[in-house]
Amino acid sequence: MTDTLIRTRFAPSPTGMFHVGNARSLLLNWVVARQFGGTMVLRVEDTDAARSRPEWTEGILSAMAWLGVDASQYEGPYSQTDYADKHTEAAQRLLKEGLAYYCDCTREQVQARRDNPNLGYDGFCRDRALEAGPGRALRFRVPEGEPTVVDDRIRGRVEFPHEALEDFVIARADGTALFVLANVVDDVEMGITHVIRGEEHLSNTPKQQLLWEALGHAPPVWAHAPVLVNEKRQKLSKRRDKVAMESYRDEGYLPEAMINYLMLLGWAPGEDREIMPIEEMIPLFSLSDVNSSPAFFDEKKLRAFNGDYIRALAVEEFIACCAPYLEEERAPWRGEDFDAEVFAQIAPLAQSRVAVLSEIVPNVDFLFLDAPVFDEKSWDKAMKPGIGAEMLTSAIASFSDASLTWEAEPLKGALEQVGAAHGLKLGKAQAPVRVAVTGRTVGLPLFESLELLGRERTLVRLRAALERLNS
Ligand code: GLU
Repeated sequence: MTDTLIRTRFAPSPTGMFHVGNARSLLLNWVVARQFGGTMVLRVEDTDAARSRPEWTEGILSAMAWLGVDASQYEGPYSQTDYADKHTEAAQRLLKEGLAYYCDCTREQVQARRDNPNLGYDGFCRDRALEAGPGRALRFRVPEGEPTVVDDRIRGRVEFPHEALEDFVIARADGTALFVLANVVDDVEMGITHVIRGEEHLSNTPKQQLLWEALGHAPPVWAHAPVLVNEKRQKLSKRRDKVAMESYRDEGYLPEAMINYLMLLGWAPGEDREIMPIEEMIPLFSLSDVNSSPAFFDEKKLRAFNGDYIRALAVEEFIACCAPYLEEERAPWRGEDFDAEVFAQIAPLAQSRVAVLSEIVPNVDFLFLDAPVFDEKSWDKAMKPGIGAEMLTSAIASFSDASLTWEAEPLKGALEQVGAAHGLKLGKAQAPVRVAVTGRTVGLPLFESLELLGRERTLVRLRAALERLNS
């Protein structure tokens, strides 16, 4: 096989939110296809009619596009239901060739015949030569003898003894195929050479390898990426962990940071490098270098990556990325109170401090709201008796002096003096002023903030805080 014939596929089921596990499988398939100048196929596995919904398919496509994998990057999307006839045909072919048989056993009957319920189906109908009929499922005849050996690029050689593989169902009584068969038939039809997916599918793989062979094809290259776990080493779960790609997008993660981080789950480009654009990773990546043990999805690390990526943006790019968070619909201020010029001035200071884009809002809201939103904890901490009122009163006097130039440096000098008069270092002295003006104890550099806010608004806020303190 020449490299250009490589065909990978991403085969999500539209039965829920596009999650980090999907994104990781997507990236692996995309990277391998790109590396060899091959093709990635997108196949939406929508045969579970009860659970599949068109809006989940939309969600898949938009999350992929957000990650930079838009329609120009894949063949498809194909819909698995469009291939239903092929699935049925394949099932019938296996039946005709004696590789599958009908079975009318109920679960209860099978269980009643076995002393060990873990053993699965006992092959009762193997030689009964039943015809198709209501209540009759089609089972694959698992050959006896040698184990099936799955040669997995990530996990190495994995042996599956056939005693542990029951004659599994490939089609329901109504003729429709089960996932295990439909998935293989589609891969065969679509000329897939590499099946790269999550570890949860490893248990399907011996069955699927037998089906590939039964259908007359050499099996593809298999690669099962390790399961993703949280900080407690629990498998990521959509009920417990933040896994939806949409939440990360909405919070203001940059797709480049997300891609970079996801690629490092179980793999490293070497030389201790971590921050690396995907284009540089593509030539370095190899499935056989992926570690098979569970990979810790560390949200804190992802956040730190995101901060790095944000800081690496040109200021204009940062401003453009912030734009959606600053719009009236999302921001706490009135649209007409937002001043793009003021924002552009504060943006470089904010850029070095936010880890996710949505954090821009609490950092700059004091500039565009009539009054700051007080964080009560910050208030109590900064406005302690003996400091709060004293500092505010003196700051008002000092800042009202018209000879004070309203710029960051002189403002700092003025507050330093005020603090010294109260026996306070600048760090302590500025806390009441910061809370009075911005509502919080942490935020952007204070004096640049005051400069932008202007003398009048600063004084109004200092007086209002003093009144609040005294009331
Ligand atoms: N549709 C399956 C899933 O979303 C993927 C199957 C596969 O990749 O083979 O889990």
